[in-house]
Amino acid sequence: MITKEITEKLLGFETPFYYYDTEMLKEILSVVSGEASNRGFHVHYAVKANFNPVIMKIIAGYGLGADCVSGNEVAHAVDCGFEAGEVVFAGVGKSDREIEMALNLGIRCFNVESASELEVINELAVRLGKVASVALRINPNVEAHTLKHITTGTEENKFGIRMADLEKVIELLRELENIHYKGIHFHIGSQITDLSVYRNLCKRINELWKWLSDRDMEPEDINVGGGLGVSYDNPDRFPPFAEYFDIFRDNLDKRIESTISFELGRSLTANCGSLISRVLYVKPGASETFVILDAGMTELLRPALYHAIHRIENLTSDGRERRYTVVGPVCETTDTFGKHIALPETRRGDLVAIRSAGAYGEVMASRYNMRSLQPEVFSDDL
Ligand SMILES: *Cc1c(COP(=O)(O)O)cnc(C)c1O
Repeated sequence: MITKEITEKLLGFETPFYYYDTEMLKEILSVVSGEASNRGFHVHYAVKANFNPVIMKIIAGYGLGADCVSGNEVAHAVDCGFEAGEVVFAGVGKSDREIEMALNLGIRCFNVESASELEVINELAVRLGKVASVALRINPNVEAHTLKHITTGTEENKFGIRMADLEKVIELLRELENIHYKGIHFHIGSQITDLSVYRNLCKRINELWKWLSDRDMEPEDINVGGGLGVSYDNPDRFPPFAEYFDIFRDNLDKRIESTISFELGRSLTANCGSLISRVLYVKPGASETFVILDAGMTELLRPALYHAIHRIENLTSDGRERRYTVVGPVCETTDTFGKHIALPETRRGDLVAIRSAGAYGEVMASRYNMRSLQPEVFSDDL
């Protein structure tokens, strides 16, 4: 919650900026690590959600591993205190340079997305005299029931190895000398709020585990990915971690002895971040009243990129509620944070918080329109 007391302090900073409530982040991390270890599960942090070093160091302090999708993320995770041996590296397009760097750092495993990638990793490992641990990222063809743009586990998208190609990839895996087979990896999408989707994923995992075990390929690690959604309507409500982990505990085949790990991004960091902005102008339109902020899609791209809706709060007004369309200053019509939303009477100079912006917020900021990159303020600094 952004209280009156915090608001008073935030008023002293130049806007726009990201405000991070580090106490809230720590509460979430202690819930997650408690609930996971109660069930014998491991949690990795999906770095792409927020790579701010202050946030990263706090997360590393809770003993989580790191899930990276670029070489820079791998190096950064290690710099921020994650154990290299607990770093996994996923992504459909790993470059040779990125693979070599990760081999030299000795990461836990590469999540491999194609046969050709497997060959390249082997070749580079041979050249460096290393053995690369790999998990096969399987596309389980499970519909995630989330936004179309953030679904990753169905047949028609670019991610993972299709079940139909698996037999061939496994043959190849057995032939490659500098590859150590570690296990399997899945990630079916993001902002998943219909948890029954994960029951379907468990079914696929059980089938695949059986199929692999029959071929003497029982996985050491099963990485079930991330995607647990957050409540954008209720920024102070924590994601349902216990319920989520229970689905895996209750639905994975009891004979599975593999290490089960999760890669959570959004559900760890979304709640703790808010984009703080000032109202520049209130402008009457033909059928709506525009509130024009000094923050826009350059600071928070999600609404423009995939019609995401964040809760908007006017921190400094308690006037009568009215309807406003809240927009940014960038020269694009999609630079809109909310249409016809209820806010207390809003005026130039009011301080506005766009909540649940701690994941896929700051990391997607751009300099479009030659705008300046925004700074960040941590609750510890207030
Ligand atoms: C993005 C990503 C995640 C994290 O997804 P969230 O929805 O933020 O939990 C996990 N694993 C992989 C491979 C990813 O690409």
